[in-house]
Amino acid sequence: MLSREGRTEATERWRDGDHGPRADMAKAAPSTCVTCGFYLPLAGSLSAAFGACANELAPADGAVVHAEYGCGAHSDVEADNGPIAPIAELVYDDGVELESR
Ligand code: SF4
Repeated sequence: MLSREGRTEATERWRDGDHGPRADMAKAAPSTCVTCGFYLPLAGSLSAAFGACANELAPADGAVVHAEYGCGAHSDVEADNGPIAPIAELVYDDGVELESR
C-alpha cells in the first residue's frame, strides 16, 4: 500500500499538473469534472479529489483528473451542429433570361 507520504506527493503532482484545477483548460471549461458524467471517482482516500476521465473524445481520456478540473467535452455541453458559416438564401438561376424585343 502506498504510504501517506507517497499519497501526499501524488496528490500534489496531480493537483498541480496538466489535469489540475489551475490548468488553462480547467479555467476555460464550462464546468468541472465532478459534475461530469464521464468522471469516475478513484477508490480509497483520494476519492474526494480525484477520478479518471472516461470520455474518449476528451484530451484527458484515461488520465487521472482533479475533481475541479474540466474540459470542453463535459457531458452537459450541447454540441452546436449548426453551419460554420451563414447559409445564403437559395436562389434558382438557370441562366436564361427571356426579353421581348
Ligand atoms: S470529459 Fe472533461 S469534464 Fe468530463 S471528466 Fe473528462 S476531463 Fe473532466
